[in-house]
Amino acid sequence: MYGYNGKVAQVDLTKRTVQEKPLTSEEARKFIGGSGLGAYYLARHFKEHSGDAAVDPFSPENPLIFTVGPYVDTPVPCSGRHAVTTLSPLTGIFAESDIGGSWGVAFKRAGYDGLIVTGRADSPVYILVAEGRVSIHDAAAYWGKDTFATYEELKGATGGEVTCIGPAGERLVRYASIMSDGRDARAAGRCGVGAVMGSKNLKAVVARGDKRTEIWDQSALAAGVKAMIPRIRQGNAGMTRYGTAGGVITHESYGNFPLQNWRLGRWPEGVEKISGQRIEQTILAGRYYCRGCVIGCGKKIRIKEGKYAGVEGAGPEYETLGCLGGMCLVDDLEAIAYANELCNRYGMDTITTGNAIAFAMEAFEKGLIGEGDTGGVKLTWGNAEAMVEMVRQIGERTGLGKLLGEGVKRAAEAIGGLAVEFAHHVKGLEFPAHDPRAFNGVALAYATSNRGACHLQAFTHPFERVVKMPEMGYEEPHDRLAVEGKGQFVAGLQNLMSMVDSLKICKFVFNGGVQVSHLTSWLNSITGWNISPREFLETGERLFTLKRMFNVRYCRISRKDDTLPPRPLTWKRRGEGVTVNLPPLGRMLSDYYECRGWDEIGIPTREVLERLDIADLF
Ligand code: SF4
Repeated sequence: MYGYNGKVAQVDLTKRTVQEKPLTSEEARKFIGGSGLGAYYLARHFKEHSGDAAVDPFSPENPLIFTVGPYVDTPVPCSGRHAVTTLSPLTGIFAESDIGGSWGVAFKRAGYDGLIVTGRADSPVYILVAEGRVSIHDAAAYWGKDTFATYEELKGATGGEVTCIGPAGERLVRYASIMSDGRDARAAGRCGVGAVMGSKNLKAVVARGDKRTEIWDQSALAAGVKAMIPRIRQGNAGMTRYGTAGGVITHESYGNFPLQNWRLGRWPEGVEKISGQRIEQTILAGRYYCRGCVIGCGKKIRIKEGKYAGVEGAGPEYETLGCLGGMCLVDDLEAIAYANELCNRYGMDTITTGNAIAFAMEAFEKGLIGEGDTGGVKLTWGNAEAMVEMVRQIGERTGLGKLLGEGVKRAAEAIGGLAVEFAHHVKGLEFPAHDPRAFNGVALAYATSNRGACHLQAFTHPFERVVKMPEMGYEEPHDRLAVEGKGQFVAGLQNLMSMVDSLKICKFVFNGGVQVSHLTSWLNSITGWNISPREFLETGERLFTLKRMFNVRYCRISRKDDTLPPRPLTWKRRGEGVTVNLPPLGRMLSDYYECRGWDEIGIPTREVLERLDIADLF
């Protein structure tokens, strides 16, 4: 089968067995790969094993699924990625996490399209996927080590690419990540996929192989890709120079960058000190790329002197600067860089970590927690040392970190009182660093994303400011404050991004003008299929709806859950240059359900499931 290896490995860690099963061409065409294929395997597993109710995400029955897609290990630019899919211990609903780096290509070259891990090993293990064979090995020597050491030692011992958890995953921090590439860190960061891995006593998955992906029409693919690469590079010149951190100053200027747990309007004097531009002037040491990338947004940093001397490797990204910096009003760049490195070493999502600390700072300010809870730490806004100490406590699961390691939703419920008023999450997943008041599309996307508050499942914000998608009817970016047509706009982009997350390609290619027809023709050249752009988007609709139905069926998700917390719905962000806006969520949501053909409480109808050919899964 062109574009695929045609097989998936199934590992039961309790029984220590390995089985192979075919990936059929029908399954590949319907569910593509990446998170689409992961969602299919997850839904099938639950249908076969769990009846009507979701299992405990930490139970051995919860599958942890690694998948690549047809673009991986081909000349398609920025396609060295893979997906991790499971039931989230943070949210209790569908979880997917996308990650770049080197592991995806190595895994595909090892001869598989996916790895489904169930069960729980009775002692720490790692899985080796090498040259068409899967085996389970003792990992006692690596347990307790951080992700940098684990990566270096296991890579040295096996010669393979390593994706692994750190101490946070072992300690079941509910937002533990799975990390690749050591100091050049790449993270499957969101939803706590690393904690599921830890619950299985699985320290790492190592991939090694040299089997190349067969391509149906190599020359057509090469020609199509070659034409777009200069445009992708040009459209991402700022990303290449500054990385995602380059957007901090701009996004703060109009009210998108998060400040003080989503309470403050402007902070220009603060962001100037933590921007990508400031990183370039001070601690930048180089650049790094995911496999097959032509952009290179990864920024290496090095701190040579001072309190944080010795920090070296991946620099803080935009989201990290937003959550550990702006959210906590910390303007000490080196402290943020150190906290970022700590998160990477422990293996923790920097977005949720920063949200949890900012939430705790507000609880401290309001007197809901005190120094008796923080171990004597004055958890005040802008206190860089306190922020770093909280990262350490969360990673170690000590002190207040025990509670904050449960995520903002659980922490607010435990603290009680008014804490739920300023706990910023959707369905249990904390906000990334984009203000839903700055973009009505982001508000609707957070409310309806299948994994909780997520800016990537719809990736609307670039298409509401600068990026055009004429092939979907958007000759200009969609007005970010428009209400009319926003439901259609968000649903369309969710369908498109569901394909992107399944083919496996970095979303930054859209900055270079990549359109649906490019993605479709590259897929056809790789696989020999002959699908139209319309079928391409319908397949994306199938994948998005499949994830929604999983949440409806097993997690009882409906309209009551498709909402935002009080502050961004009722508290206007103000300040010079900030567009004052409260997203009219109820109206947009009704339009959104209508254009998806779902009923009034957000349940996909039987007709929709049959049209998309997924009714048999539920
Ligand atoms: S642009 Fe950045 S995240 Fe995307 S593939 Fe390249 S290095 Fe990876």
